[in-house]
Amino acid sequence: MNIRMETVSVRRAQPTLGRSARGRANGAQLWWQMTSGALVIAYCASLILLTRPASGYSSLWDGWIGNVASTLPLIPVLMRARARSPLRWAWAAMAAGIALTGAANLLYLFHDQNLNPIPSPATSDVLYLMSYVMFAIGVATMTQKAFGAGHVSIRLDGLVAGLAIGSIAVMLWFEPILQVSGQPLQVAVGMAYPLCDLVLLVLLVAGIAPARFRPSLPVALLIGGVLFFVVGDIVYLNQTAAQTYVGGTALDATWTVGTFLIGLAAWPRGERRSHSRDDGRAAPAGVALVPVVFGFVSLIVVAISLIKTTSPVTVGMALAALAIMIIRMALTLREVREATSRSFSDARTDPLTGLRNRRAFMETLDVESVGLANEQSLGVLLIDLDHFKEVNDSLGHHVGDDLLRIVAQRFQQCIGKRGALARIGGDEFASSFATTTREAMIELAHELVASLADPITLEGVTVRVGASIGVAISPDDGATAADLLRSADVAMYEAKRTQTAVCTYQPKHDVNSREQLTTIYELRIAIDERSLMLNFQPTLDMRSGKVYGVEALVRWQHPTRGLLYPESFVSLAERTGLIPELTRAVLELAIEEAAELDSLGHVLQMSVNISRYDLVDEALPSFIDELLDRYHVAHHRLTLEVTESCLASDPEHVSRSIRNLRMRGVRISIDDFGVGHSSMSQLLELPIDELKIDKSFILALQTDKRAGAIISSAVELGRALNLTIVAKGVESAHSLALLQRLGTDVAQGYQIARPLTAAKLHQYLIEAAQPLGLLSKPISDVILSSSTASKN
Ligand code: C2E
Ligand code: MG
Repeated sequence: MNIRMETVSVRRAQPTLGRSARGRANGAQLWWQMTSGALVIAYCASLILLTRPASGYSSLWDGWIGNVASTLPLIPVLMRARARSPLRWAWAAMAAGIALTGAANLLYLFHDQNLNPIPSPATSDVLYLMSYVMFAIGVATMTQKAFGAGHVSIRLDGLVAGLAIGSIAVMLWFEPILQVSGQPLQVAVGMAYPLCDLVLLVLLVAGIAPARFRPSLPVALLIGGVLFFVVGDIVYLNQTAAQTYVGGTALDATWTVGTFLIGLAAWPRGERRSHSRDDGRAAPAGVALVPVVFGFVSLIVVAISLIKTTSPVTVGMALAALAIMIIRMALTLREVREATSRSFSDARTDPLTGLRNRRAFMETLDVESVGLANEQSLGVLLIDLDHFKEVNDSLGHHVGDDLLRIVAQRFQQCIGKRGALARIGGDEFASSFATTTREAMIELAHELVASLADPITLEGVTVRVGASIGVAISPDDGATAADLLRSADVAMYEAKRTQTAVCTYQPKHDVNSREQLTTIYELRIAIDERSLMLNFQPTLDMRSGKVYGVEALVRWQHPTRGLLYPESFVSLAERTGLIPELTRAVLELAIEEAAELDSLGHVLQMSVNISRYDLVDEALPSFIDELLDRYHVAHHRLTLEVTESCLASDPEHVSRSIRNLRMRGVRISIDDFGVGHSSMSQLLELPIDELKIDKSFILALQTDKRAGAIISSAVELGRALNLTIVAKGVESAHSLALLQRLGTDVAQGYQIARPLTAAKLHQYLIEAAQPLGLLSKPISDVILSSSTASKN
């Protein structure tokens, strides 16, 4: 029990501890900064304000205060080296550098400065030089991090710059100083410092190349620190060569200030590293600046050495810088070439499946169309997955992605080396082949469909996807790659629409063919000008023998092609987005006619067919409200017919729209009942009023007993759900009698009346209303005789 409580309390205490630890760390940093800053200022001030001994070196100020001030930065640098930072090894090397400088200072304080004369080089120089090596390692490690893997060439920049600067420095200082001092070892050691500084500087500057030479604050502080070293070491070299160096001058402060700046750079708040803005692939702008500038400097050194005698070291360094610059440029070229080819292939590859993308596919088509043999054609298959959206929406996009990968593999296996496969859109694939017959393409398309037959298990859920494939072949279906793909696209949509898995292109499917475009244009005008007309087909109430209602059926009196029936333009209107306008025009004509019939004393049901696309038209319900109000027709007098097949397309959305319409009082009828794929549960859930049994059952009634059984069960269902059962396609008196016996409520068909113009309908209704009118005879005869028959 106790142990548990302890565990809990420790866990709870953790955040507090974390905060206080961080607070302590910040406090330590602040303490260091203030102390170190105060010491640096005090030391610098002492150089100006204090009276110094003849040697200029004060053990207290230079030996102790100055040394402590330049060793204090070890604290933040060590803290960075201990922290879990990716640069900790770099900072560890920097810490070693500072520690070695401190040790060298002590050696100088206790040993070297007591010798007379102070030797040059002295023992402390060994430690000083070692500290520079550590600084170089630290800075080099630090700057390496700034380069992406793709920029090996930039790493040579430090070397180019170091050699170029070295050659200049040797030419300008080493040779003259050597002439002045005549002591090569002294000059060499003295030279080593500024040269090391310059290398440090160059490494730092080269390190910010990937960040377009914009250093972060820590890098700027490091550069500042090294610059102090450069100045100090050059002046020191000159003074020692001329034997004018005296300790305890402003010169000695340069190293202290330099180290202080390095310590500041290690301050964690400046942890933001100078980082590359590019993705490590494209060469950053200004990437060639360092080698070009220092290559040019080396060239100048070589040119000078041609007219003026210079040491072989100078020329050697300059030539080496130039040679490395050439290697570096060659490497850069290779990297650029690699990056270009990588981005070329990236731009043509689908990252999800690794297949070609649309761009690559179009290029392949262009190339393949040129390389065809005489008897060969180029075939294109456009494959669109069925019900992919449902998988994606219900199981999530990552499962959708997995599904696409598996489908891509199956297609790839199926196609093999026969052709090229690409993913050209979300769930759209395309394939191209050199072929001789359209049949071969169709066969392959069926193989692709069959490859999806086995269900796919994703995250424990088994899913089955199908595909709709459009087939197009050159030159019949298109001469160019774009035309072929478009034709395959048209065929694929036809396959989807007709729910046949594979469909080959035919111009009549193409809404963009010249003829279709003209038809669309004319249909738009016909809708706008309200020049569409309606026929009305009366329906019969089987119980009363009276006219029950009429179904409005659209007709288009085309200026040149004569009277057109819905099959030649309704699906076109659906595919081209004209259907909402068409439906509105029909509704207006139908409701206007309902009002007209009212005024003539015929109060009838008005049925109007609406398309599946109207169910996604959110403005339709209010449009209907407004129409019914305008013509003073009650909502329940309007029946909207929705085909059963459209219930399956988007059940959720469709049932929402149907509910919305039904709520207003409009009646809903399920048309073509029995041939769609709606489930019983869906029907039970929907608020519907009427079932219109498909005419195929009624037409088969006389020949197939099963048709009777189906109609009878539909009637039972209607009774149970309180629905009106309508039988349509009633073409004979015998069928009518059978339907009456089976218990259907309403009948529609040529036996009762064909679709009529408004004028003929008025005439028909007058005659039907008369005791021995048009309707009464055949129907009452049939109904009577059948009821007599049934009685017998
Ligand atoms: P539907 O809703 O099934 O309409 C009945 C169709 O069957 C009509 O063809 C009608 O002429 C025909 N018909 C009527 N009685 C008989 C019969 O006894 N035997 C046979 N074989 N056929 C009969 P229509 O006018 O060509 O309409 C065809 C389809 O076009 C309609 O089928 C309906 O789905 C659609 N449609 C018609 N008007 C419109 C409309 O305004 N909007 C929309 N979206 N679709 C419409
Ligand atoms: Mg209908």
